[in-house]
Amino acid sequence: MNVILLGPPGAGKGTQAEGIVKEFGLVHISTGDMLRAAVKAGTEMGLKAQEYMTKGALVPDEVVIGIVRDRIAEPDCEKGFLLDGFPRTVNQAIELDKVLASMGKNIDAVVNIVVPDEELLNRLTGRRICKTCQRPYHIMFKPPKVEGICECGGELYQRADDTVETVKNRLDVYHSQTAPLIDYYKEKGVLIDIDGTKTVEGVFEDISNSLKAKV
Ligand code: ADP
Ligand code: ADP
Ligand code: ZN
Repeated sequence: MNVILLGPPGAGKGTQAEGIVKEFGLVHISTGDMLRAAVKAGTEMGLKAQEYMTKGALVPDEVVIGIVRDRIAEPDCEKGFLLDGFPRTVNQAIELDKVLASMGKNIDAVVNIVVPDEELLNRLTGRRICKTCQRPYHIMFKPPKVEGICECGGELYQRADDTVETVKNRLDVYHSQTAPLIDYYKEKGVLIDIDGTKTVEGVFEDISNSLKAKV
């Protein structure tokens, strides 16, 4: 099964991805995580991407499409994959369809996690990420057992783009460039709307039940 996780920044895509890939045996593909790894490694692509990421703007389509194409072509993706944070523009979705068609693959479900903007601001400004495994936590809503430390032992940090100012930009970008994907996938008959305001466990149960109905 090949699945896309759609939703605004802070909707809970990364949080839910962990449980979904475990339950359905999928490969987790997060373009945000891959881009941050490239920034950290200081590659040419990472340096270019960083200019956009710090502003809360989208990295150019051709960069992300290239990353995703290469990753999906790896043999482990035969068992199915979960795209998290990609596609983010209609152009990316069209290019993804072309890539998948050339490989004889397709998208089985698009899970659209719905959360209102005011809640997203609270979630993103309180978010902390593990340096080692990239797992997201929240200072109020999902605090780690030991302050500042992930379950894996890794150190938590606050992303440079999780500030009030940048979050507002990212929400604008979401509404203008990414939200049109909701109609794109609705027309294809693969969209599943999920109420993302429930607890982490409640949201997971809804996603899991919807996906089980698809397999
Ligand atoms: P996304 O990947 O969609 O940007 P994350 O999964 O990183 O979102 O979640 C954003 C923040 O909100 C994190 O700090 C996370 O701990 C928190 N969070 C995720 N799901 C919930 C939820 N259902 N209720 C409250 N907080 C949540
Ligand atoms: P969030 O879910 O919190 O918005 P991500 O980790 O998915 O954050 O993305 C962080 C940043 O990485 C985005 O603001 C954007 O600059 C860049 N990025 C990630 N995925 C894409 C994509 N598919 N297209 C363009 N830019 C992307
Ligand atoms: Zn960790």
